[in-house]
Amino acid sequence: MARYVLPDLPYDYGSLEPHISADIMRLHHDKHHKAYVDGANAALEALEEARQKNDFARLAALERSLAFNVSGHVLHSLFWQNLTPDGGDRPTGDLASALDRDFGGFAHFRAQLTKAASTIMGSGWAALCWDPLGRRLLTAQFHDHQSEVTQGSVPLLVIDAWEHAYYLQYKNEKVQFFEALWNLWNWEDVEARFAAARRLDLGLVHVTDEQPAP
Ligand code: MN
Repeated sequence: MARYVLPDLPYDYGSLEPHISADIMRLHHDKHHKAYVDGANAALEALEEARQKNDFARLAALERSLAFNVSGHVLHSLFWQNLTPDGGDRPTGDLASALDRDFGGFAHFRAQLTKAASTIMGSGWAALCWDPLGRRLLTAQFHDHQSEVTQGSVPLLVIDAWEHAYYLQYKNEKVQFFEALWNLWNWEDVEARFAAARRLDLGLVHVTDEQPAP
């Protein structure tokens, strides 16, 4: 069975300082992210065992564990790629145009996404997503890693709003952490994800009252 693996960070632990400390990055990647990878593999193994024994008594719990841990693995892998020591500023090209169209400008998008992160109750994520049905950009709040997901949507940029993402450095001032991330966004990465996501076709009728953008 193919197992999930923990990817290396694409930069050194300390290279996102002063915005994110090396201590947080080491703990967040080596311990927290790894726990989701291990949890995803454990769920796969338990499912394999359930099939062999033809005993699906715990199937619902295993499905929940699989969704939680695989989603945690996906979102952390994405978060690391979304950040760079050379980040910040703002996007250009097609992504900038789409943010203007769907949010009324970069400043409105930034305010909405930061607020989405700041108002999560409990543990979760804020995300910029591409909705391939309406062919538009949306923000989302994911509770834990997987609740309130707009099905079919593709996350392009994510903000980890779990306490483990900031508490060692920012304590209860989580909005300062969310604001600091705007110095680190790797817009080249987000733009590449946007270009790839727009090629996704769910094979559904595009039920909006406007002709979708090309
Ligand atoms: Mn995290």
